[in-house]
Amino acid sequence: MAKRDYYEVLGVSKTASEEEIKKAYRKLAMQNHPDTHPNDKAAEERFKEASEAYEVLSDPKKRSAYDQFGFSGMNDFQGGAAGNYSNVYRDFSDIFGGAGFSDFFSSFFGGGRQQHGGSYGESGASLRYDITISFSEAVNGCKKEITFGHKVKCSSCGGTGGTGRKTCSSCGGTGRVTRGNGFFQMASTCTACGGKGYVIEKPCSSCHGTGTEVKTEKLMVTIPAGVDDGARLTLRGKGDAGTNGGADGDLVLFISVQSDRYFVREGNDVYLQIPVSITQAALGSAVLVPTVDGVSIKVDIPAGIQSGTMLRVKGRGVPQLRGSSRGDMYIRVMVETPRRLSLKARELMKELREEIKEDPSPEPMEFHV
Ligand SMILES: [Zn+2]
Ligand SMILES: [Zn+2]
Repeated sequence: MAKRDYYEVLGVSKTASEEEIKKAYRKLAMQNHPDTHPNDKAAEERFKEASEAYEVLSDPKKRSAYDQFGFSGMNDFQGGAAGNYSNVYRDFSDIFGGAGFSDFFSSFFGGGRQQHGGSYGESGASLRYDITISFSEAVNGCKKEITFGHKVKCSSCGGTGGTGRKTCSSCGGTGRVTRGNGFFQMASTCTACGGKGYVIEKPCSSCHGTGTEVKTEKLMVTIPAGVDDGARLTLRGKGDAGTNGGADGDLVLFISVQSDRYFVREGNDVYLQIPVSITQAALGSAVLVPTVDGVSIKVDIPAGIQSGTMLRVKGRGVPQLRGSSRGDMYIRVMVETPRRLSLKARELMKELREEIKEDPSPEPMEFHV
């Protein structure tokens, strides 16, 4: 089946505000929530479809990529359009606040609980790590050693949390209890076992039954050439460890790129300004210009160039992230007028003025003070 347009899915216009998008999603999500439609595949599909649309349209970056390139614009994002439903998570309390769906919700999208042959494993949390790199490291790629703390399996109990595990009698091992009448049933986490579905009679003394301990680790990370400020890099499984067979969370690197003294980046193109003397500008010359690679290249300044002219050097910009092409380098040539002239230079300048028949006193200039 062809994918439906995200705006159409949410029933909003292309110019809809963030608030309108949120409202439309909330309505659809409440109508089709799998908690109120157990075993209804069609409702579940509608719920997923709406959640994916919301994930994209509630994120200005994803939304603008989608507006420009449609579904193919989503390939640049980690995990595709829906990614990890980070915005749905972020806005969760806003959207579903008080609706009692949270427990279901996290398991639906792969966070939270997963069933493993009757017992419930809990996924580990994904962690954020902020890292700042230089302009040149972003352009050329780099390796960085990072040190971070995360939860790993407890070394004393091997992650079991202790001994004497018994199925929870309150929920019968499901980790969830259902309340309410037939029309609107609500499922919520079992309070007796905290949703685990079991209780441990002799909790491990090192981890107090949690099955995890915090460990500091060092990791060498390869940051690919071409990353830009604000990029995210997901290291799968390097977040907190899951318990009882639950999946490990991810470590997500939030990358900040420092600005450069000379180069200004715009997408994969870079801009650079270079000074030339009036004789270089008038006569033409070859000048050495630095590039983002760190090597200098010879660039021909054509005779008679005007100050402010932009020259383009193809393929000398930033490499495309995980691609083979490169952006271009734009050089703005600024002609510098000499500030101090020797007597001889003054005479030569005057001679030059005669020679090129320049009007010595053009339109009088007026200065307003
Ligand atoms: Zn332990
Ligand atoms: Zn229970």
